[in-house]
Amino acid sequence: MTKTESPTRDVLHAALFAADKHRLQTRKDAEASPYINHPLAVAEVLARHGVSDLVTLQAALLHDTVEDTETTGEELERAFGPEIARVVLEVSDDKSLPKEERKLLQIDHAPSLSDHAKLVKLGDKICNVFDVASNPPAGWGLERRREYLDWTEAVVDGCRGVNEALEAQYDRVLAEARKALAG
Ligand code: NDP
Ligand code: ZN
Repeated sequence: MTKTESPTRDVLHAALFAADKHRLQTRKDAEASPYINHPLAVAEVLARHGVSDLVTLQAALLHDTVEDTETTGEELERAFGPEIARVVLEVSDDKSLPKEERKLLQIDHAPSLSDHAKLVKLGDKICNVFDVASNPPAGWGLERRREYLDWTEAVVDGCRGVNEALEAQYDRVLAEARKALAG
């Protein structure tokens, strides 16, 4: 039987792959939410703002697998093809570098990312800014949370020009977060 194209199957395949890879991980919030909630939220916010291409949506679901699990680019390429693997690698920090350097590199590299990768970054920052305001990493004080918002703004500045609705959503979420952390 020949394999027919099915966008639903492809998206669910990426969701299941990510759920398996992140199965033993939690987010940094006080409740230690299941890690998979985050990649699902990133893909959902993209879909909600008009992103329908499968490369971006699958890369969104997979975006933290290389950075935060043992998953390799080759493994992603075998399972999802070279284009999706490339986008995931584009949005993955090199964990062998010191954290401050990684943070600066994200800002420097943002303008030269592919459009697919810029969309994934925008979705990622929208979700993380929302979480830093409403569901922050345990132990983060106001100052650290504010610094985090400033850093995402610098990264997102390099990702603009790919999707107006998504960029406007980032601006709204950032403004809400700053209001919540003012004082
Ligand atoms: P980290 O990179 O350590 O943590 C933020 C990352 O954690 C996010 O980008 C996100 O990445 C992931 N994450 C997991 N759970 C959550 C959650 N509930 N909410 C939001 N993000 C979550 O943070 P930084 O090193 O960037 O620290 C933030 C700022 O604070 C920096 O600007 C840094 O300079 C400063 N800093 C301050 C310190 C202090 O003690 N005052 C110490 C160190 C840094 P992903 O989506 O990839 O999982
Ligand atoms: Zn992420």
